[in-house]
Formats: sequence, C-alpha cells, structure tokens
Amino acid sequence: MVKNLLERIESRLHRVMDPELPFLTVMELGMIRGIALVNNTAVIQLTPTYTGCPATDAIKEDLQNAAEEIHPNVQIELVMTPAWTTDWISDETRSKMAQNGVAPPEGQSADKAFLLGDERIVPCPRCKTNKTKLVSPFGSTACKAHFTCLECLEPFDHFKCI
Ligand SMILES: [Zn+2]
Repeated sequence: MVKNLLERIESRLHRVMDPELPFLTVMELGMIRGIALVNNTAVIQLTPTYTGCPATDAIKEDLQNAAEEIHPNVQIELVMTPAWTTDWISDETRSKMAQNGVAPPEGQSADKAFLLGDERIVPCPRCKTNKTKLVSPFGSTACKAHFTCLECLEPFDHFKCI
C-alpha cells in the first residue's frame, strides 16, 4: 500500500520539468534524493542544482503541486549535503541537452574553474567545433552561459551549474 503510493508519487514526479531546461525533468537532472512516507506525509528530498539557484523555489512549488495530485500531505525537504554535482546527470540526459542546443557540463572541476572566471573551451553542441566564443557569462537564466559558435555562427547556451 505504502509502496504503491510512493511509486505513484515518483511516477508523477517524473513528469515535472526543470524550469531552466524545459526539455528535462528534475528527475533526469538528478535533483530528487528520495521519497518517503513519514507519519502519512510524503517527504520529498530535493537537492537544488546550486545554493541560491533562483529556480529552486519554482521547482519546489512544482514538485509540491505534482505530488499533491497523488497525496494530500506533501513536504519538500531541501538536502544540501552532499551538494548536487553535474556527475549526477546521466549520459542519456547529457545527449538530450546537446540535442536541444545546450552544451552539457563536462565535469565538476571544469565548471568550478569556469565559475571562477577562467577561460574554458565549450564545444558547439551542433557542429562540435571548439571554436566558440563566450558572449555572456549569464545566458537566458543564471544557470546558463551564452556562447556563439564561430563555425556555424549559431548561438547556444552552456549549462554551468555545479
Ligand atoms: Zn557550431
């Protein structure tokens, strides 16, 4: 009975999209750490992509609303340790990002260097050239940097959250 309820909540959460990357679910981004039933309250553990990410509140609300469709008592618990890392993004999800014109993060240390302002090479998600140029460290949202490809001249976003 309990297992069944948690499974239904989980499958509903699989349909909650990330507001910053609307072609990916929060599950695909590895942000859900666990779902448990505690005193008849469904407790969903959420690890945001980074502390202070402006999308966190929107994600919390979306998860709350989605889970409430299944169970009336829902609590979203923020889990900050261990911190979310781009390592939790699966290869399948990375290729989905590339297909949608967002250069996926390559690794935690690389992204940290980037956030510290070091120059880095981000290959174009369309033509794969390394000849790209950083246009703005902030793209359409705070979690993305905006690049332009110097080969195919297409602009693209790079997901840089750590
Ligand atoms: Zn290109």
